[in-house]
Amino acid sequence: MNGTILVADDSMVVRAVLRRQLETDGHTVVEAVNGAEAIDACREYHPDVILLDVEMPVLDGHATLERLKADPQLKDIPVVFLTGRVDTADVVNGLRLGAHDYLRKPFEANELMARVSAALRTKWLQDELRTRNAELDRVARIDMLTNIYNRRHLDEHLRSVISAARRHDRTIGVLIVDIDHFKNVNDEHGHLAGDAVLREVAVRLAQAMRTEDALGRWGGEEFLAVLTDTPPEGVRVMAERLRQVIAAAPFTLDDGSQIRVTVSVGHASGTEDAEVLVHRADDALYVAKAEGRNRVAAA
Ligand code: GH3
Ligand code: MG
Ligand code: MG
Ligand code: MG
Repeated sequence: MNGTILVADDSMVVRAVLRRQLETDGHTVVEAVNGAEAIDACREYHPDVILLDVEMPVLDGHATLERLKADPQLKDIPVVFLTGRVDTADVVNGLRLGAHDYLRKPFEANELMARVSAALRTKWLQDELRTRNAELDRVARIDMLTNIYNRRHLDEHLRSVISAARRHDRTIGVLIVDIDHFKNVNDEHGHLAGDAVLREVAVRLAQAMRTEDALGRWGGEEFLAVLTDTPPEGVRVMAERLRQVIAAAPFTLDDGSQIRVTVSVGHASGTEDAEVLVHRADDALYVAKAEGRNRVAAA
């Protein structure tokens, strides 16, 4: 396992010795002569492990470690302390501040390599875990069928944009888009054709919206759009546009046949709690359905 190792030590001799040993082992070495330089080097080179001297001018090892741990970008890089002192206070302090390990000077090559390898392994496992968590988080927010957001994400998103809107004295627009007589599509063309229509509706709706607006599948054949920074009149315009992109052109099924699909849209603007806003949009949707479908209605 090779990595980029930052060697932060004010002694040129120590840096040279470490560089030679680490490079012999196949690592890439970056040097810093004090703590302040070490932090700059971390931002520039993203090292996998930091070998950090305790006694250095400008910013000593302990102060440097405190700053590293306070920085979300840098706090997960494992730090191995280099200490020349015989007393254990240094070591205890370093470990208490979050150091991964320590090495006493003068160090022996084998021990140095073993500790650097252990620190590297920790770093890689952490990186892998982070990548997997990010992927899990993404999957947990996406609807499998349509590849747009799912209800879980929309719920969370709504809560966060509503609280921001309240602070900035703006309103949030919520639109519920419901496919008209969708049951008939399934009944006449089969469930798979129904699924394909759901996917195509999602694509058309997404294309009609701005990237900063959120679109998701709210349930079955219902979609929900959340518009920020859009006054009520703009929300109405968007509702009408979403209706049109579905009604404007027929949908082509896998067997080549074409069907007409329409949607009804209910919309509401405000800063009430998420459930209340959605409920108002849903009431408006009910009105659009009652008035004959393929139309929009405001709360
Ligand atoms: P309305 O105009 O009043 O909205 O009528 P509708 O038929 O669209 O509404 P209804 O709620 O009666 O039926 C919704 C249908 O959506 C029934 C259900 O089978 C279908 N549906 C829900 N989820 C899916 C899905 O994931 N795939 C498919 N193919 N159909 C689905
Ligand atoms: Mg020193
Ligand atoms: Mg419905
Ligand atoms: Mg429907």
